[in-house]
Amino acid sequence: AKGDGRSCFRFFEPEMDVRMQLRRGLETDLRQALAAAEFELFYQPILDVGSRAVTSFEALLRWRHPERGLMPPDRFIPLAEETGLIVPIGEWVLRAACAEAMRWPAHLHVAVNLSPTQFASRGLLEAITGALAASGLAPHRLELEITETVMLKDSEATLSTLHRLKAIGVRIAMDDFGTGYSSLSYLQRFPFDKVKIDRSFIRNLGQTRESGAIVGAVVDLCAGLGKGATAEGVETPEQLEELAAKGCREVQGFLFSRPCPAAEVAGLLDRLRSW
Ligand code: C2E
Ligand code: CA
Ligand code: CA
Ligand code: CA
Repeated sequence: AKGDGRSCFRFFEPEMDVRMQLRRGLETDLRQALAAAEFELFYQPILDVGSRAVTSFEALLRWRHPERGLMPPDRFIPLAEETGLIVPIGEWVLRAACAEAMRWPAHLHVAVNLSPTQFASRGLLEAITGALAASGLAPHRLELEITETVMLKDSEATLSTLHRLKAIGVRIAMDDFGTGYSSLSYLQRFPFDKVKIDRSFIRNLGQTRESGAIVGAVVDLCAGLGKGATAEGVETPEQLEELAAKGCREVQGFLFSRPCPAAEVAGLLDRLRSW
C-alpha cells in the first residue's frame, strides 16, 4: 500500500541496487581484511604420478569474513582485481606462502597464484624477492602460476617480466591451460616451466574419447617442448589411470586431498605416504 513508506519501498528495490550495496559493503570489508588478518591460505597437494610422492602444494586463498564465514576466492578476488586491492593482498599471499613452505621438508615446492593486475604491477619483482628474502626460501622452491589472460595484454612487457622472474630463479607455470584464448604459440614464446591442464579437460577423461585425445595431445606437446604437465581436478581413480597411461607426470585434485589449512599439511603428508 501507498503509505507504507520506506521499508516497503526498499523491499521492491531493483535487485541491481541490492547487489550494489552488498558489493560496496564487501569492498569496505575487503579494504580492512588485511589489517584484521582475516585472510588465510589453504594448501592442496600436487603428486608425482609415478612415485605417488607429494612434490608441492598450491596455496589457495580464503577469507574468514566475520559475518559471511569462510569465503572462497571466486567470491572476492574479482572485486580485489577491480579495486587494485589484489596487489597488497597478493603480496601478503607471497609472504605467507614462502614462510609456510619453510616449515616443510626441503624438497617440497609451493605454488602461488598471481592475478593479471598483480603480474602487471610495478612492485611485482620486489614483492617476490622480498618474500623470498624475508622467509629464506630458496627461489627454486617457489612456483608462480599465471593464466593466459596475462599474455593477452602486452606480450612484450609480459615476456620481459617473465625473463626477470626466471632470472630470480623461481619457476613459472601456465595455469588453466586450454581455457579462454589459449594459443599454442604462447607455449613456445613464453618461458614456462610447466603447464597446468584445466580441470574441464580432466572431468570427462575415461568417458569421452575427445577429452582423452586432447589431454594426450597436451601432455605430448609439453614433453616435446621440455615442459612439465600437471593435471588439475583429478577426482577419480579412472581419471588418474588414464592420465598415467597418457604420460602425465603430475596430478592434483580431490582424489588426493581438498585444499586444507596449513596446520593439516604434516598430517596430510603422512596420510598420502601410504596412499
Ligand atoms: P585455480 O588456480 O585453478 O585453483 C584450483 C581450484 O580448483 C581451487 O579452487 C581448488 O580448490 C579447486 N580444485 C582442486 N581440485 C579440485 C577437484 O578435484 N575438483 C574440483 N571441482 N575442484 C578442485 P579455489 O581454492 O576455490 O580457487 C579458485 C580460484 O581462485 C583459483 O583457481 C585461482 O584462480 C584463484 N585463487 C586462489 N587463491 C588465489 C591467490 O592467492 N591469488 C590469486 N590471484 N588468485 C587465487
Ligand atoms: Ca592455480
Ligand atoms: Ca588452475
Ligand atoms: Ca581456475
